[in-house]
Amino acid sequence: MSAIIDEFSLGHPDNKGYGKARRLKPLSSGDEHFSTIEKLFYKGWKHPKKPKQKIHAIFKILSSDSSLKPFHRYRALVASSPALRNRTKNPANEQLLFHGTNRFCRLAEDSSRVRLCSLSKCHLCSIIRNSFDVKKCGTKHKFRRFGTGIYTTTCSSKADDYVLNDDESSKLRVLLVNRVIVGNPHKRRQNATALTEPPCGHHSVVGEPGLDLNYAETVVYDNDAIRPAFLIVYREDAEEVKLNLKSLIITLFKTPLAS
Ligand SMILES: [Zn+2]
Repeated sequence: MSAIIDEFSLGHPDNKGYGKARRLKPLSSGDEHFSTIEKLFYKGWKHPKKPKQKIHAIFKILSSDSSLKPFHRYRALVASSPALRNRTKNPANEQLLFHGTNRFCRLAEDSSRVRLCSLSKCHLCSIIRNSFDVKKCGTKHKFRRFGTGIYTTTCSSKADDYVLNDDESSKLRVLLVNRVIVGNPHKRRQNATALTEPPCGHHSVVGEPGLDLNYAETVVYDNDAIRPAFLIVYREDAEEVKLNLKSLIITLFKTPLAS
């Protein structure tokens, strides 16, 4: 038996019963990953005008060893680069970052819908199955602020802008949380749309809010710098919906309502 690559591997003994088309492993709310992802999601929900959301479920995304190995190789390479030589903790500066995409199936709508679809236009299933492909960058959105790369963010409400459900009747939305090798980031506040790789000595570009951006984003330019790791299923908070409705009625009729 080959060595276990990591806990996201389909070959890990804890992941028995999962396979090629069945990659989503539900996390219980007591799982340490659940609380980590939950915190990142709520902390990253920054758009003041977007309604608050509630997490419905979180799944771990399992991948084959043949997909995880190049990611591990890339991570080791980045960790050995001169710029990161003095880092002791998290040597490759790996971060968990959000990415929103379109979903043309009902994946993760409930615990029975965990099989990936085979529709080529369903980017969600394609990313879970084959990870990200820099060549597909910008096929959906023509404007590429930091060039041809794979875009992620710490801001869940920004990633949510890119979430699209083909079935508009679905109230549930899903976001990918990814392991991203940020390495030594090149930080910038202004657009650089012609980039196809990070500037020399850097491994990623981090757009900082200020001039051209309102919310942070992180771009990597190598397919092996990123792997999908978790899927968050969420929807508008029902309490929030009630509150919004109430304040709308108060505004419309200028009459205070009894609570
Ligand atoms: Zn799908």
